[in-house]
Amino acid sequence: MAPRPIADSYGGYRARLVEELRRKGIKDMAVLAAIAETPRHLFVPEALRARAYDDTSLPVGQGQTISQPSTHAQYLVALDLKGRERVLEVGTGTGYQAALLGRLAEVVVSVERLPELAVRARKALEDSGTTNVTVLVGDGTLGWRPLAPYDAILVSASGPRVPSPLTDQLTDNGIMLIPLDRGTTQDLYRITKHGNELTEEKLAATQFVPLIGRHGFQPEAS
Ligand code: SAH
Repeated sequence: MAPRPIADSYGGYRARLVEELRRKGIKDMAVLAAIAETPRHLFVPEALRARAYDDTSLPVGQGQTISQPSTHAQYLVALDLKGRERVLEVGTGTGYQAALLGRLAEVVVSVERLPELAVRARKALEDSGTTNVTVLVGDGTLGWRPLAPYDAILVSASGPRVPSPLTDQLTDNGIMLIPLDRGTTQDLYRITKHGNELTEEKLAATQFVPLIGRHGFQPEAS
């Protein structure tokens, strides 16, 4: 179902952000429209709302950050969604990227390992009028088998390797975006599945928090 249109006092700020993204080279109209329609201020802590429409990353608590809008936009351009896809997101965080995905795909399943973040994200998604995103708590490196397969998978945290359950849960011709820490650099990769074959392209340098789980990094002992 299409999300409800929003009426709030931040429309001018969103329009300015969209202009900035356009100047920075984002041309995909569907992606720009999704950003123009999604109330990012509902996804950041209240104290930071004044900066919600700056093109910067912001701390969101629990040691996590919300990426800068141009990073979200680059991800979404690289996924090239047509509107009918079933998408899995690993790492809900604030839920903002999930809300954007909800505007560009048919169904979004988003998995977050920290229950407190999942609760906040669900509330923000509801407040933003998003109705086609389900937030689940668990280890997203295992994917979410009951709702698989997925036409696209977006991993929003950086792992040491591509988790095999995620490639298993991709449809034929499905696309996955995942940042990987290999050696001393962290880069975004696009993985495409054709039958049993996976092709891999390196897209750009990235800076994401660690992907922690069975097929990711191990949690630090405290
Ligand atoms: N896309 C998010 C930002 C994600 S930050 C947004 O729009 O706000 C990365 C998130 O990945 C963090 O919330 C972190 O807790 C989560 N994460 C890390 N490892 C995970 C795993 N194995 N499964 C699910 N979530 C994970």
